Amino acid sequence: MRLTQYFLPVLKETPAEAQIASHRLMLRAGMIKQASAGIYSWLPLGFKVLRRLEDIVHQEQQRAGHIPMLMPTLQSADLWRESGRYDDYGKEMLRITDRHGRDMLYGPTNEELITDIFRQTISSYKDLPKTLYHIQWKFRDEIRPRFGVMRGREFFMKDGYSFDMDRESAIHAYNRHMVSYLRTYERMGLQAIPMKADTGPIGGDYSHEFLVLAETGESEVFYDRAVTDLKLGERAVNYADVKQVAAICEEFTTPYARTDETHDAAIYADVPAERQMSARGIEVGQIFYFGTKYSQALGADVVMPDGSRVPAEMGSHGIGVSRLIGALIEANHDERGIIWPEGVTPFHAGIVNLKQGDSAADAACDALFAGLASRGLEALYDDRDERAGGKFATMDLIGLPWRITVGPRGLAKGVVELTSRRTNESEELTPEAAIDRLAQIYAGV
Ligand code: ATP
Ligand code: MG
Repeated sequence: MRLTQYFLPVLKETPAEAQIASHRLMLRAGMIKQASAGIYSWLPLGFKVLRRLEDIVHQEQQRAGHIPMLMPTLQSADLWRESGRYDDYGKEMLRITDRHGRDMLYGPTNEELITDIFRQTISSYKDLPKTLYHIQWKFRDEIRPRFGVMRGREFFMKDGYSFDMDRESAIHAYNRHMVSYLRTYERMGLQAIPMKADTGPIGGDYSHEFLVLAETGESEVFYDRAVTDLKLGERAVNYADVKQVAAICEEFTTPYARTDETHDAAIYADVPAERQMSARGIEVGQIFYFGTKYSQALGADVVMPDGSRVPAEMGSHGIGVSRLIGALIEANHDERGIIWPEGVTPFHAGIVNLKQGDSAADAACDALFAGLASRGLEALYDDRDERAGGKFATMDLIGLPWRITVGPRGLAKGVVELTSRRTNESEELTPEAAIDRLAQIYAGV
C-alpha cells in the first residue's frame, strides 16, 4: 500500500479524552474513531489489526477442533425469558422493540441462541462432543465505557460453546479451550496468565480468566512469579489427547494466580515471599464449564446410550478480540508510539523514501515494494513528498516492526537501511538481502 493512496488520518495532538496509552495511540495512529460513547469506527489501520487477530483466533480454534459459524447480533427476547436472564441482565442489555412490538435485544452473549439451535438439531449422544463458536459484535451498555476499545459498549468477541454428553468430556472441552487460548495469545506476542475465576452461583473450579499484566489493567491480580516463566512455545499439541491437554492445563494452573475476586491470602502466603507478586491485569478472555444451567432451562437434552435423556453438559469460552488490541498496545509501546509484535502487525514493513521524486530512490522503493509482495509480505510505502523527520515519526507512531529506509546516499553504495522499531538498531543491507531478512523473520512467526 502506498501511503498517498491509503487512509491514515494520524493526529499530531494527543487527544485530551484518552487516559491511557493504548487509547491515545489508537486515536493518534488513525486506527479508530469514536462514533458515540464506547462505540468506535474501525479505520483501515485498526481494521487490519482486528482482522489479523480474528484470523489467529479462527486458526487456533479450528486447530482445537472447534467449528466456526455466525449468529446474529439481534436476538429475540423470548429465549432470554426462557432462561430467566431477560430480567436478570439489567441495564447492560440493550433492549429494542421492532415495528411489530416484539421485544428484541442486541446480544451481550449467545448462550440462549446456541442452546436453542442445539435443542432443535441435536438429540443423541452420538452427535457429541461439539464445540461451535463465532466471532461477532456484542453490545453491553456498560455504565462507564472507557479506555477506548478496552471497555467499549460495542465490542468484538469470540464466543464458543461446548456441548458434551458427560462431565469428563466437558472437562476435556474446557481444557482444550485453555490450551488453544494459551497458543492464541502467544502467537499474538502476549503473555496472558490463566487465573482462577469466580464461578458465581454455579460454583466449581472450572472457570479461568486470562490476564495480561499491565499497570492500566482494571483487575487487581496476585500471582506466583513462576507462572510468568511458563510458555507453550513450539511444543506439539494433540487436542485429541485428553491426558496431554490436561497435563498442560495442570502445568499452567498450578502456580498461584488469582484476581482479587478469588484471591485467598492464606494460600498465597504459601508462595515463597520472593515470588509473591501483586500487580494489575487486563482480562482478555474467560473460559467456563457450567454444566447444565442453560440446557436444563431450555430443554436441550441428549439421548444417552442407555436410552435415558439428560441435559447436555455445556461450557462457554470467550476471547475479547477488540479489547486485545488495547492490551497489545499497553504491552508494546514507547514514547514514540506503538510497537507491533510481528504476529499481529498491520503491515509487515514500512518503506521510507528519503527523497521522493529522485528517480533512483523512487525506483528502488518500487522494487522493494514488489520484491516484498512477491514473498507474501505487505509493505506500507511512505511515498509522500515530506521531510524525513515527518515520515519517521509516522512510522514510529503506527509501530510497524521493521522499516526500510531508502535514500540516494545509501543507494550510491548499493544499500538500504533496515531498522527494528523495537530495538531501534539499524543495519545496512542490499535491497535483496533486506527482503530475504524480512522473509526469514516472518517465516518464523
Ligand atoms: P469484564 O469483567 O471486563 O466486564 P466480563 O467478564 O463481563 O468482562 P466476559 O463475559 O467474560 O466479560 O466476556 C469475554 C471477554 O470479552 C472478556 O474476557 C473481555 O476480554 C471481553 N469483554 C467483555 N466486556 C468487554 C467490553 N465492555 N469491552 C471490550 N471487551 C470486553
Ligand atoms: Mg469475564
